Amino acid sequence: MIDYHMHTPLCRHASGSVEEYCQQALRRGLHEIGFSDHSPMPPWYDAQWRMKAEELPTYIDWVQQAQARYAGRLTIRMGLEADFHPGTEEYVADLLKSHPWDFVIGSVHYIANWGFDNPAFVRDFDTRDIDEVYRQYFRLLRQSAQSGLFDVIGHPELIKKFGHRPTRVLDAEMALTTRCFADCGIAIDVNTAGLRKPVAERYPGDPFLHHLIAAKVGLCVGSDAHRPEEVGFMIAETLAHLAELGATTIRTFQGRTPSERPIHELLKVA
Ligand code: ZN
Ligand code: FE
Ligand code: FE
Ligand code: ZN
Repeated sequence: MIDYHMHTPLCRHASGSVEEYCQQALRRGLHEIGFSDHSPMPPWYDAQWRMKAEELPTYIDWVQQAQARYAGRLTIRMGLEADFHPGTEEYVADLLKSHPWDFVIGSVHYIANWGFDNPAFVRDFDTRDIDEVYRQYFRLLRQSAQSGLFDVIGHPELIKKFGHRPTRVLDAEMALTTRCFADCGIAIDVNTAGLRKPVAERYPGDPFLHHLIAAKVGLCVGSDAHRPEEVGFMIAETLAHLAELGATTIRTFQGRTPSERPIHELLKVA
């Protein structure tokens, strides 16, 4: 089993040591994990929710130490969760050149200057046109794929986190966005954190997954663990669910080169 989305305390809103995340991975029967902590961004952008640029070497050091310590027992990939936010692309491009990452997740956490997944700003949903919010969100997902910066689109549909729904199914947006991901060759992060949130669904949910699987968009799986106990959360169930929806493989990365792993094999060794 695999979990490609987990954090470290360097991001200022996660707890537990890298060691504890790895221990929990072994306890849960995972054989490959990827750390993907919140990357540094330009100083004006969301600084309190991520590591500082000068902390990046510490992050790399922590993950490399774990890779050495767990060699032969647990494959550990060195990833990052960068943000996609118009105006920060050059900064992110430079940052990604600074180290040979295994994979990079690109996540949309803001619509313009609104941090829509922050509980402190949830009231904003009541003052906006929800259908327009969804359209803006999907447009940003497409732009993040088209930026060419990332290997994986982080938690698609995060916009539904607090349970706000569009007034109608945005099938055309999903179809357009799926085509964009397929054309870009980018994978998505099938993220189980939504199951722990008010929406109580994976990101993305089944209607969007139907489009993505039909178009053979690459699928990664991640718990988005911000505490060691969350490593591997609902991953086995999610792999089984993806297989039921018609998916056959999960994408993994080494040195930003993708490989496809058959889901039935991942479930067998679980
Ligand atoms: Zn986080
Ligand atoms: Fe995120
Ligand atoms: Fe995350
Ligand atoms: Zn995340």
